[in-house]
Amino acid sequence: MPTMMPKYDSQPSTNGRRTSSGDLARTKILLLGQRRTGKTSILDVLFNDCGPKDTLYIERTTRVTKHTYDTVIPLEIWDCPGDITLEALEALDTPLSHFATIIFVMDIQDLYQPPITKLVSFVIAAYDQSPQTNLEVFVHKADALSEEYRIDNYRFLQQHILDELIDISSEYEQIQMNFALTSIHDHSLHDAFSRTLHKSIESLPYLEDLLNIFCYNSQSSKAFLFDLKSRLYVATDASPVDPPTHNLCSDYLLMLNSFGPLYSSHPASAPRSPFLSSTRPSALAPTINTADNTRQAPITKTLFYPSAGMTLTYQLITRKLALLAIIPSAVFEARRGLVEYNVVFFREGVQEICEVEDEARGGGG
Ligand code: GDP
Repeated sequence: MPTMMPKYDSQPSTNGRRTSSGDLARTKILLLGQRRTGKTSILDVLFNDCGPKDTLYIERTTRVTKHTYDTVIPLEIWDCPGDITLEALEALDTPLSHFATIIFVMDIQDLYQPPITKLVSFVIAAYDQSPQTNLEVFVHKADALSEEYRIDNYRFLQQHILDELIDISSEYEQIQMNFALTSIHDHSLHDAFSRTLHKSIESLPYLEDLLNIFCYNSQSSKAFLFDLKSRLYVATDASPVDPPTHNLCSDYLLMLNSFGPLYSSHPASAPRSPFLSSTRPSALAPTINTADNTRQAPITKTLFYPSAGMTLTYQLITRKLALLAIIPSAVFEARRGLVEYNVVFFREGVQEICEVEDEARGGGG
């Protein structure tokens, strides 16, 4: 049975709260890096349904471009041209302190000095203005190198940046920066961006509590709350994220995103998905429902068998979010009613958190 639901009361904070003009207050993320490091590709792959191969034809970014994206929190991501200077950025009337996160994108093969010097000058400016800004370095295009060189270059860049900061002032030793190896060609980008996003989601502890309660009550070994379109996970339970499980869930969502529309118009007579029936003939026929499922939507579920004895369940939670959980097949088959009851409880909790978040940011619902 579900235990007490955690209560989320959004408190005003400096980032992403209702603006004085009453507009929706978006959490701002700044993407910086030399040209051709892959900044626009990252945004297009994550938020614009762009396949990794299609990024070859992306036009060059010549001015700051703002992209908005609504998930559990509304985002505004600034894509900057490679040659932007600190002065040019500051001339845009948005101080660095207004960004919740700054992501520096570096090409893993660019080991020479100018990009490092530029990155360090932005890090110092951001830290001096607002020490609480999250600073992330994506060492990108990791797929371009073999494993051995990839780790060498990654360590070299990381060490070089930290050394350079300390050389300028020992005070900068305390700057917290996170480094991640990323590539648009595998799951590393989704994982790194998800972890970056978590730092801006104030309701994260509440979402995690709900996931922990769900896992405990449903005997689930792992559960993710995914943003459907971007396939970023906005929260997960307390157990560690192991890459194969994350990759499996992400691939499953990709498959649903690609094939879901084929099944959406005739839910009653929806044909059995070839992917599901081939794995197990008795699996439930998927009833992928893209209608507005925010309140009393029927539980939408499909089954997939990640490994012997385990079932991957998919439950639509809001129009934008889905719960993917790994549950022992025996438990799922014997106690499906209980699992679905736990999902109803989970859904109510997430919806309440989203409503509070929306209200605090001045959204219209
Ligand atoms: P920007 O100038 O920083 O916005 O860079 P773009 O997004 O225009 O990307 C420059 C080139 O890098 C394009 O040809 C992309 O296809 C390529 N690219 C982007 N991300 C990756 C990656 O993860 N791996 C590889 N191998 N190439 C990438």
